Amino acid sequence: MLRGTFRRPRLFWIGTAVAVVALGIAAFFVFRSTGTVPTSVAFSEFLIDVEAGRVRAVTVEPDAVLFERLDGTKFQTIAPPGYIASNATFVTGLTARGVRLDVNQPKPSNAGRYGAIAMGFLFFVMAGLVLMRMMTGRVPSLERTRTVDLEQVPVTFADVAGVDEAKDEVSEIVDFLKDPARFSTIGGRIPRGILLIGPPGTGKTLLARSMAGEAGVPFISASGSDFVEMYAGVGASRVRRLFKDARRHKSCIIFIDELDAVGRNRGGNSLSHEEREQTLNQLLVEMDGFSQSDNIVVVAATNRHDILDPALLRPGRFDRQVMVGNPDIRGREQILRVHTKKVSLEPEIDLRSIARGTPGFSGADLANLVNEAALIAARSGRQSVATTDLDAARDKVLMGVERKSVAMSEHERITCAYHEAGHAVVAALLPDADPLHKVTIIPRGRALGVTMQLPEADRYTHSKPYIESQLAILMGGRVAEELFLRQVTSGAANDIERATDLARRMVCELGMSPLGPLHFRRPSGAFDSDSRASGFSEETARRVDDEIRTLVMRGYETARMIIERQRGAVRALADELLEVESVDADRLRQILAAALTQSTPPPMLATESAGSAAL
Ligand code: ADP
Ligand code: MG
Ligand code: ZN
Repeated sequence: MLRGTFRRPRLFWIGTAVAVVALGIAAFFVFRSTGTVPTSVAFSEFLIDVEAGRVRAVTVEPDAVLFERLDGTKFQTIAPPGYIASNATFVTGLTARGVRLDVNQPKPSNAGRYGAIAMGFLFFVMAGLVLMRMMTGRVPSLERTRTVDLEQVPVTFADVAGVDEAKDEVSEIVDFLKDPARFSTIGGRIPRGILLIGPPGTGKTLLARSMAGEAGVPFISASGSDFVEMYAGVGASRVRRLFKDARRHKSCIIFIDELDAVGRNRGGNSLSHEEREQTLNQLLVEMDGFSQSDNIVVVAATNRHDILDPALLRPGRFDRQVMVGNPDIRGREQILRVHTKKVSLEPEIDLRSIARGTPGFSGADLANLVNEAALIAARSGRQSVATTDLDAARDKVLMGVERKSVAMSEHERITCAYHEAGHAVVAALLPDADPLHKVTIIPRGRALGVTMQLPEADRYTHSKPYIESQLAILMGGRVAEELFLRQVTSGAANDIERATDLARRMVCELGMSPLGPLHFRRPSGAFDSDSRASGFSEETARRVDDEIRTLVMRGYETARMIIERQRGAVRALADELLEVESVDADRLRQILAAALTQSTPPPMLATESAGSAAL
């Protein structure tokens, strides 16, 4: 990989030059005062010279005695401590012989002088930082050396799986880069700016690199956040530099990651906003300035295209937008195939069923899954990866690493077992909920216990009953603790938070409350908190809060009703958990089947019937 360095901005060089000159001047003054050092002689020699009348002048320095002979030669010597001060006859003797006597006050030592210089220098640096902070609203990180990565990429389209539509869309650009002449003779305008939009880990960076690899052109990359971190004006000059670097190549791809960092619609701080604006303008200028002969394609990636400045999306700029979404089941299978190529697999492994069991996983998650599975297999001394390794890896990726070292007291274990059993039984009994996958009371990540459900198929939308069952399941933990252990603990804090968020989304975004299909925007910043900016009146705000509470409480009541009827099942599951700590789907089904009171599952509590006409 080649690395080209960004030239530092002019401002930086001026600053450096000033500092060097200042240091030089300071050093000159320090060393000038020292001058040439006279020869040292023994004190006795000095006394003999004085006796013999060969001395013309004596200068008593704080740490030495300098003297000059009649012939003009200069020497220095060290007097015994206190000798001159306590020896009046010595002094009168000198004057009697007509010797000139000077006494110099102690001067600040060299160490002191260096200290003062260092302080001064530090002061300048600090003042500079403060100034910059005032100018740009942030302190630049000085230790950072900025580089643009420039590489000849070995990655090709074969390494990117499960995003076929996106690949199709960009393949046209690759053809253009391979053979620009073909396109220019026809006269068509090839899009020069491509925006890859998608959640993290879906392979946007990978796709951009594979474009360069396929076309066989250099890949020059930078991150949007690099452009806005520094002094005012620096971002713009970096953008200029980036494009200048790029123009040196016959053809190439410029990749800008996190485009939203530069292209944000409006910033918080008005001054840093200005800096961002300059950077953004420079980017637009550079992109508008492409000539027919520049075979440069700019690829950018973002997961927040909703906040991008519209100017970026105009024709001639990032006018080709490519969605890179999370893969579906077929896509996941293909991605698994790509990543298991370098791993030796047991023949029994069925990648299709692994793909089915990993809904919602991104490409990066799947790559991680395969890697974890290989590590698990290696740790247990096997030569190839088995299905059990992949299962264990999936649980690890989904639920976090087991923390066997966490010592729970017996009471905490019991609390945890009932809490999770509460979640699980509610989940098992609600018809609209996802099937249970596993319940454990082995601490993982930050959770002490986990109840895990896995959807049977990929879900892209959620029905209202599904979300309502989610609320009830979240409440199940707290309810079980209350009913069985007569206690309320902090263990449900996260459940409560998630339930409240979910209910808020139902009311404010999904139109699933009597307030109707409206979007109620929440205040997004300190300055937006007045009710007009937050999009609704105080009266409405109160009703929104009421509805959120109603939804959560309805979930709570549902959970309570189920658990009260199914005490036997909850107790049986909790006992099993206390004994074996981890219960999988099959065992779970057995336990619940044996213990469930044979009654028809209760219907969801009355959904809104009153009030829906009120708005
Ligand atoms: P993004 O830039 O969208 O956040 P990356 O391109 O950085 O995602 O993906 C991180 C890693 O995940 C890649 O290096 C690759 O190993 C894996 N990966 C992600 N998506 C895919 C995919 N579609 N096909 C193959 N591997 C993928
Ligand atoms: Mg990326
Ligand atoms: Zn819980």
